[in-house]
Amino acid sequence: MDQLVLGIAADEQIRVMSAVTTETVKEAVKRHQTSPTASAAMGRLLTGAQLLASSFKDFDRLTVRIDAEGPLNGIVAEADKRGNVRGYVKNPSADAELSMKGKFDVSSLVGGGMLHVIRESGFDMGLHKDPYVGSVPIVSGEIAEDIAHYLLKSEQIPSAVLLGVMLTNTEPFVEASGGVLIQMLPGANDHLATMIEDTIGNSPHVTELIREGATPEDLLKAALGEISFEVLETRPLAFKCNCSFERAESLIAALGDEEIESMITEDDGAVMNCGFCSSEYSLDSAQLAALLNRS
Ligand code: ZN
Repeated sequence: MDQLVLGIAADEQIRVMSAVTTETVKEAVKRHQTSPTASAAMGRLLTGAQLLASSFKDFDRLTVRIDAEGPLNGIVAEADKRGNVRGYVKNPSADAELSMKGKFDVSSLVGGGMLHVIRESGFDMGLHKDPYVGSVPIVSGEIAEDIAHYLLKSEQIPSAVLLGVMLTNTEPFVEASGGVLIQMLPGANDHLATMIEDTIGNSPHVTELIREGATPEDLLKAALGEISFEVLETRPLAFKCNCSFERAESLIAALGDEEIESMITEDDGAVMNCGFCSSEYSLDSAQLAALLNRS
């Protein structure tokens, strides 16, 4: 099972989060049938959204959206406070050659564009507060650097973000996935940032560690080196969508009677696909007729 840990380090000068998301990304790749490079991009953003969601308190739903100018077109990841995430890429078949170093060339699929982080709250209680939206231009397209840039520019939090997805050629394609988020709190000693940079530069990549069985705590040890930390919370993570047949029905009902009647006469039914998880909901004419006069 995937897990995330949340902790503090260096006498509360640093906030740390890390996650193993192999199962989450396996599920997302299975549902969306993404190309290898699109899988890497989607997996990194799903992991990044789960890490960000664990670092904020004031929201019910956190969405990270990349509006990409490159062939991928866009990526969306939506996380809640309980460790659930769902998401998709707009063009799942877009792919790119491996880079010179043999890495997935996520940045060329993303191209330029914008990264938006949207935090919404209150809708579960029927309140419609304005969402809090932070937006920054894409600076690297590799996603981890873009999330770090967002945290610095939009939240004034200097951070180190590591995200990785390792794939294989055979199903379920995802061998390892995970990430680390390290945030310097106000007043943190500058020396700590340099130490962490050095440690990260000299330690194996997160996906190498996860493939060898590393837990989120092991990832923190690798990223922090000599700096001591304390785990405050551990939570399970999963790819989970909140769509349902009932939600599909009410979306169709909201289209109005005229639209529903034409679905009955012209198509003899309706099929709805959830963009977030690729689940398909089919309604026959009798089920559609039952929705008439409801809106
Ligand atoms: Zn769904």
